[in-house]
Amino acid sequence: TKPLVEVKHLKKHFDVGRGQILKAVDDVSFDIYPGETFGLVGESGCGKSTLGRTLIRLYEATEGTVSFDGEAVHGRKSNAERKKLSRSIQMIFQDPYASLNQRMTVTDIIAEGIDAHGIAKNRKERQQMVYDLLETVGLNRSHAERFPHEFSGGQRQRIGIARALAVHPRFVIADEPISALDVSIQAQVVNLMKKLQQELGLTYLFIAHDLSMVKHISDRIGVMYLGGMVELTSSDELFENPLHPYTKTLLSAIPIPDPKLERGRERMVLQGDLPSPINPPSGCRFRTRCPFATELCATETPVWQEAEKGHWVACHLYDPSKKMTVNKEGAGA
Ligand code: SF4
Ligand code: MG
Repeated sequence: TKPLVEVKHLKKHFDVGRGQILKAVDDVSFDIYPGETFGLVGESGCGKSTLGRTLIRLYEATEGTVSFDGEAVHGRKSNAERKKLSRSIQMIFQDPYASLNQRMTVTDIIAEGIDAHGIAKNRKERQQMVYDLLETVGLNRSHAERFPHEFSGGQRQRIGIARALAVHPRFVIADEPISALDVSIQAQVVNLMKKLQQELGLTYLFIAHDLSMVKHISDRIGVMYLGGMVELTSSDELFENPLHPYTKTLLSAIPIPDPKLERGRERMVLQGDLPSPINPPSGCRFRTRCPFATELCATETPVWQEAEKGHWVACHLYDPSKKMTVNKEGAGA
């Protein structure tokens, strides 16, 4: 199958003044396939939200390309092309309260896209569409004339989902959609998203700061660190056979009561702080926190390559041309 979304050497840099450049996303390449959920994980500040926003063109790309269903997302577009893309790709945000207009009724919030794209023939059809969408997300028509403050966090996220679905998107970028919710509500929203994905054939980019949040919903997971993608593989493979030292530290932080996964997993603790994405470390950006770092890691940027089938990693340890080995003490040699 052909990818639905293709990201090639994407960079999003911000000029933060005084000649300083913040490299929020720095040379990231990956594909997302139709019908899959691609989990994107990393600490806050690693660039995952910026990446999501650049995919939907809320930000212009500094360099590189994004294509959706074979069409370039960035660059010069006609109005018709822009409209088509803005219907095809929708976004769900972390804080449903902040992302919903407090003065609008639920009907008007959900119908924003319906109105912008002229999807309903008349008021009656518009209202019926809203009722149907409310039911789709587990709410009902009695909620239609209320305001966002009258709902719980989980219900507000359902409204955000209904608003995104109103224009029949094919690709939904969910930026930490459950991070602000109570744990008991998180599973409900994830289950709703899974159900909608199957019913509507949606493709998801699911952004989270915590691996355990994306594990069950994701088919594949990409791990970001300081503006770069460091590892990408299937969800199962990532948990059973993590390659990148950063991924290993993330997994070490999650207690998993499954001996099969526990076996062979190195216990690694993430040391030090996340460096600033302004003037990031030379060579491998993870080297200041990596127990395997050698001199090579300071001078050469690791190449993003497929170490095993479908398993991508950016680390010299897995680059056959670098001949770095890991000794038993866990230090690079
Ligand atoms: Fe660690 Fe070097 Fe691999 Fe970077 S390239 S993750 S510093 S071993
Ligand atoms: Mg974020």
